[in-house]
Amino acid sequence: MPSDDLSGLCEAIAKGNVVAFTGAGVSEESGIPTYRGTDGFWTKYDPDKYASIAYFEKDPSYYWSFFKDTRGPLLHDAKPNSAHIALAELEEKSKVNAVITQNIDGLHQVAGSQNVIELHGSSRAFHCMKCRKGYNLPEAEEAVEKANPPICTDCGGILRPDIVFFGEMLPPGAIEKAFDLARQCSLFLVVGSSLVVYPAAQAPVVAVEAGAELAIINVDPTPVDHLAKWIVHEKAGEVLPKLIEE
Ligand code: NAD
Repeated sequence: MPSDDLSGLCEAIAKGNVVAFTGAGVSEESGIPTYRGTDGFWTKYDPDKYASIAYFEKDPSYYWSFFKDTRGPLLHDAKPNSAHIALAELEEKSKVNAVITQNIDGLHQVAGSQNVIELHGSSRAFHCMKCRKGYNLPEAEEAVEKANPPICTDCGGILRPDIVFFGEMLPPGAIEKAFDLARQCSLFLVVGSSLVVYPAAQAPVVAVEAGAELAIINVDPTPVDHLAKWIVHEKAGEVLPKLIEE
């Protein structure tokens, strides 16, 4: 039976060799909606269009309108919250070895986490699909103000975000590195993920099969709750600072 005993979880974290695995829920308190929550992106936009490579190739302007209206301004305004900061502190104290994230918002790095594996890429970086010239967030915002879809200043090719769309492969080596970290840790700490997007959602199972303890901090239940030693159904930004205090 999983426990919600924070002091037991604190002791496990204090021993170190922890790998954190985060999803959209860790950024919810930074004002970035999750996909599947009640106020998620899925409720307002069509994921078959803005998150799919097939649709992007057909009509890139749909993604870029979504970026211009929502994602760009969200990324500009979002600041790391106390959950991101707590994970960065735990890395600094040599308790957390790495953060494996499904998020594309870059907030772990802004908070100070050094060893971050971004399984689904980053929505703060962009490149030209023709000549591969790289663009940062302000440059992409400027480009989409001029044209939708935005165009490369060097060759006129169409720009795309450095994210993994549905229908695309994960970045080379990323999932292998994540699974290696999962196999080597003593505690696998899931924060704010529904654990339904594969292959990323396999990581906690890989960790448990290799002998790690599993802790899940998530508002809602997940499909692997039965494998966890600790489950805390509370907001990440409230729970993680408490763990640091203890
Ligand atoms: P998800 O939306 O499927 O699940 C988020 C989970 O977080 C939910 O189970 C929800 O109950 C929980 N949650 C919500 N607020 C929380 C909080 N404050 N504290 C703790 N838990 C909270 O997200 P996912 O599992 O990351 O997978 C979906 C995909 O969404 C990923 O591929 C990811 O790339 C993408 N995504 C990323 C962002 C981002 O970068 N911030 C935002 C939306 C979606």
